[in-house]
Amino acid sequence: MLQLLLIIVAVVGLLVVMRREAGALPALAVLAATGIVGILFGSPLLGALLLIGAVAVAVCGLPALRRQWLTPRIFATFKKVAPKVSDTERTALEAGSVGWDGELFSGKPNWEALMAYGDDGLTDEERAFVDHQCSVASGMTNAWEITRERADLPPELWAYLKKEGFFGMIIPKQYGGLGFSAKAQSAVLQKLAVNETLMVTVGVPNSLGPGELLLKYGTQQQKDHYLPRLADGREIPCFGLTGPRAGSDATSIPDTGVVCKQMVDGEEVLGLRLNFEKRWITLAPIATVVGLAFRMFDPDGLLGGENDLGITCALIPRDTDGMEIGRRHHPIGSPFMNGPIVGKDVFVPLDTIIGGPEMAGQGWRMLVECLSVGRCITLPSGATGTSRYALGWSGGFARIRRQFNLPVAEMEGVQEPLARIAALSYISQAAVMETANMIDKGDKPAVPSAILKSQLTEFQRDLLSHAMDIHGGKAVTLGPRNYIGIGYSANPVAITVEGANIMTRNLMIFGQGAIRCHPYVLEELAAKDADDLKAFDKAFFGHAGLIFGNTARAFTQGLGLGKASTPFDEVAAPYAQEVARLSAAFGLCADAAMASLGSALKSREMVSARLGDVLSNLYLTSMVLKQWRASDKVESEAALMHYSCTLLLHRAEQALIELFDNLPNRGLGKLLSWLVMPLGRRWTTPHDDLTREIAQKVSRHSALRSKLLGNTWDQQEEGQQDNPLARYNALLVDYDRAEALYRTVNKAYAKGELPVEALHPEQRFAAAREAELISEEDARFMAEYETEVLAMLTVDDFAFDAFAQQQEKVVWHNAA
Ligand SMILES: Cc1cc2nc3c(=O)[nH]c(=O)nc-3n(C[C@H](O)[C@H](O)[C@H](O)COP(=O)(O)OP(=O)(O)OC[C@H]3O[C@@H](n4cnc5c(N)ncnc54)[C@H](O)[C@@H]3O)c2cc1C
Repeated sequence: MLQLLLIIVAVVGLLVVMRREAGALPALAVLAATGIVGILFGSPLLGALLLIGAVAVAVCGLPALRRQWLTPRIFATFKKVAPKVSDTERTALEAGSVGWDGELFSGKPNWEALMAYGDDGLTDEERAFVDHQCSVASGMTNAWEITRERADLPPELWAYLKKEGFFGMIIPKQYGGLGFSAKAQSAVLQKLAVNETLMVTVGVPNSLGPGELLLKYGTQQQKDHYLPRLADGREIPCFGLTGPRAGSDATSIPDTGVVCKQMVDGEEVLGLRLNFEKRWITLAPIATVVGLAFRMFDPDGLLGGENDLGITCALIPRDTDGMEIGRRHHPIGSPFMNGPIVGKDVFVPLDTIIGGPEMAGQGWRMLVECLSVGRCITLPSGATGTSRYALGWSGGFARIRRQFNLPVAEMEGVQEPLARIAALSYISQAAVMETANMIDKGDKPAVPSAILKSQLTEFQRDLLSHAMDIHGGKAVTLGPRNYIGIGYSANPVAITVEGANIMTRNLMIFGQGAIRCHPYVLEELAAKDADDLKAFDKAFFGHAGLIFGNTARAFTQGLGLGKASTPFDEVAAPYAQEVARLSAAFGLCADAAMASLGSALKSREMVSARLGDVLSNLYLTSMVLKQWRASDKVESEAALMHYSCTLLLHRAEQALIELFDNLPNRGLGKLLSWLVMPLGRRWTTPHDDLTREIAQKVSRHSALRSKLLGNTWDQQEEGQQDNPLARYNALLVDYDRAEALYRTVNKAYAKGELPVEALHPEQRFAAAREAELISEEDARFMAEYETEVLAMLTVDDFAFDAFAQQQEKVVWHNAA
């Protein structure tokens, strides 16, 4: 009995000490005290074992002791097995800042740190711009005309975008730009996502490119010259990094800039001779200034230093001799300006280098430092905006489209994808706006930028497929009336650019996060590089304490004990506690994977991807929780919150289970599974009741639908292009009245009270009026309602030879 009691006291005591990462002394005290009690009160063997444990803890845990004999041995092994970090990787690792991602890596996220990011919303000026200028610009887009007829934005839209400063959102007011916050940029791009060509055209100059590089690194002269001209659209920029040989592996660009002297206007000028071949460069066909990345060499030592200076960025005017620019690529689904640029012996003076000659060789660092902000905003905002429109259109269509005498929105098979679109949109909105807010507070989130880019564009792919399915043939048939098919086909662009998703998911999220956000790994590697035993001892044993802490936290919380305290209400708190639990599990598994695979983890991308998935889903859940806490809730938003958090936590847990099943060390996989999920998995897919409730709300005129469709172009004004979202919204306002009348009339028809040949709704309502089953006013109302419904259901047809680009190849099969 005493033995059992002692074991329980020792285990519980150690778990408490480990959970708190209280260090070696308290652990030693627990073991020593239980050991002495055992020896004194009749359990000498157990007491001795506990005392041996106490001695082991003292030898390993007390710095003064272990540094004598243990740390040097571990340090020697670490030096052999630790992965080599190349200069390129180190640059990427050191770029950006660590915030909430670091908290999740720690295994004990401090929610107050997340709550500390207060949100002041948009300024009046920013709000007015989103409400007015973005609506005007959206109202000038006609997807069919832009994609099929013109392969460009209309000239009046280009002029409007330039005049209103759309291309200078990130440029400060002192240079004539709009000086918008990250949140405002995101809101603008979300609204413009009604048309992907418009979104990309505005998004790219405001993302990574000459504007941002100049702002951060440009010389004063470069800023004074270019920024005002970029802000008002006199200059259109592009940025060329990618070429035929270097895509994802962008540091391998074979393009060169060789330092040389050349006579210009009778004077000898020190400059660069550039030879390059770039492709897929957005805006290149119309760009007036080209940001160019190349490898810089100085073989003749003209700059007095080494030959290979490294990647460098310069700004080259379009009309520079030797540049071939103007041809176009044809990106799938969207004719935004994109094309190749080739340069042969292009000579430019040294002051074209962004930041001047002293920034020679700093190009890669400049690019990765800027990437974190732009990648958090442009594509994630486009994806979020797309989700809002897809939801609005799909909910509207599903409500007005009747089959089997019912709106298809009443069918569970349709409700499932509809609710999924709503949840993916809700999560995206939270993630992009909360992360933009962090940027406004000074963060440069590197790992979250990879999470947002890959996860939200994957959501976009997923939800667009659902939206297409819900629309059936209406979305499959291309033409001016199809508001979704073109955007759907353009989706792979978002998947591929700014770090293709496969690489981002498999390599970057965890690969970067493991070193960048981990509380100790970077310190351990730095100690290795500096050959500093004392620093290594501190980092390594801090790391060991963290592993013990995460083991205890994951295990006890997996048993439902010692739940973390959180600042959320009773709806959100259980999810926040689960984020904390899975964060501890993630921290433990990340360390286990790194320890068991060592440098091989780099090539074990499927392991790394699953760890990245856990981190991504925990990050997204946290953003949903933060949004929930800050926002004014509307009816049924709780259902959407439950759905979204359940979905994300299910995905996080699923990724962990797959990790356990696939760790090369099978024993370790099983041990982790037992430690992290002692009672099995906790999360399944969202409940059907939630699906039904959400689908009902988003396919009707409701507060939830209005909230989710905020930040969209949803008004139809005089002179604007057709706005299907505004039309659906108007139909939904009238839906309840129409539905009651459908029921009355269909019941009467079923009972034989109306002529059997009244098959069309219009005929049926006219007959019902004649039979005085409905009032004159209701009949008129339904005639108008049905006309609008039919207009929204109608698809386009074309002349037989309308699609052929070469008329002489048309075969008139059955022509008379
Ligand atoms: C429409 C469009 C616009 C673009 N705009 C610009 C621009 O303005 N400026 C510019 O410089 N570039 C631009 N790009 C280039 C874009 O950034 C690259 O396409 C992207 O970096 C991926 O390169 P890639 O297409 O050559 O794919 P590849 O590098 O050939 O990759 C092929 C596949 O392998 C995967 N992969 C590669 N390496 C790894 C790895 N280590 N682990 C796992 N998977 C991996 C990728 O994820 C991808 O799925 C644009 C591209 C397109 C298509």
